[in-house]
Amino acid sequence: MNKHWIISLTTVGALMLTSCSSGDEQATDSTDTIQAVSTFTILSDIVAEVGGDHVTVHNIVPVGNDPHEYDSTPEDTKAMSDADVFFYNGLNLEGGENGWASRMVESVGLEDDRVVETTDGVEPMYLTDEESEHSINPHAFLDPRVGMIMAENVADGLIDVNPDNADEYRQNLESFLEQLTDIDQRYQQEIGDLEEDRRVLVTSERAYQYMADSYDLLEGYIWAVDTDDIGTPEQMISAIDFVNEHKPPALFVESNVTPGPMETVSEETGVEIYATIFSDELAPEGEPGDTYLDFLEENLRNISEGLQQ
Ligand SMILES: [Zn+2]
Repeated sequence: MNKHWIISLTTVGALMLTSCSSGDEQATDSTDTIQAVSTFTILSDIVAEVGGDHVTVHNIVPVGNDPHEYDSTPEDTKAMSDADVFFYNGLNLEGGENGWASRMVESVGLEDDRVVETTDGVEPMYLTDEESEHSINPHAFLDPRVGMIMAENVADGLIDVNPDNADEYRQNLESFLEQLTDIDQRYQQEIGDLEEDRRVLVTSERAYQYMADSYDLLEGYIWAVDTDDIGTPEQMISAIDFVNEHKPPALFVESNVTPGPMETVSEETGVEIYATIFSDELAPEGEPGDTYLDFLEENLRNISEGLQQ
């Protein structure tokens, strides 16, 4: 066998490989996957559900970190630079106009038409009587009806940047909305079935305002939002007074907050903490509540069982 012949074969092989892979890349542009970046676990799951096989999702704030305030990592910046589309909650969750998410968008120079505020169309609720950007309650996603609006905005955002897969995004959206509709009906039914004086939800942070409004629960809480002072003497006194006045069957503590203040409310009032419920993040992967649908289901189960007893 002569040397020249071997070299030629190798060259032909290399050429074939090159042409095959460039053919694949052309197909990839129109039918395969796009890169999405999303700010926190709940939203990332919604993007993954609606995106299906055509979207890879980089989640920024991991379980165990606070989405209200966050320092991005070099991996986040890299993912942002490669992003076809970026999804954020809005309603001031990621710190608003000058918050960490808008700073990231600016630092990588992502164009406006690739940036999607997923609560667009949600009527804001406020933590105080004064209605300013700072007092907007970000936690709309605890309400399944808001989850539907977010999923619709996610689908619109994906279709805008990747219209070739529009039909699949619409199909995924439809089946996701069906499941959310089912959960919404069960929230209405199970919470609606409780006697009126039992429909009192006491948590550490005032995160359940939208959900409580949709399903007619009276909200009690120790502090308004995690970023401000938490568990001050005034806040403790007012939460204890609230519990003594409204006598809820149970108290709840969120998975992402320190349980100490709620334990004190429980000791002072004699009302027990029934369960840990979810607010700003999904459960770690593999545990109950690790998808948005399951997160909503777990909350409903714990709240309706706790208030029934
Ligand atoms: Zn929060």
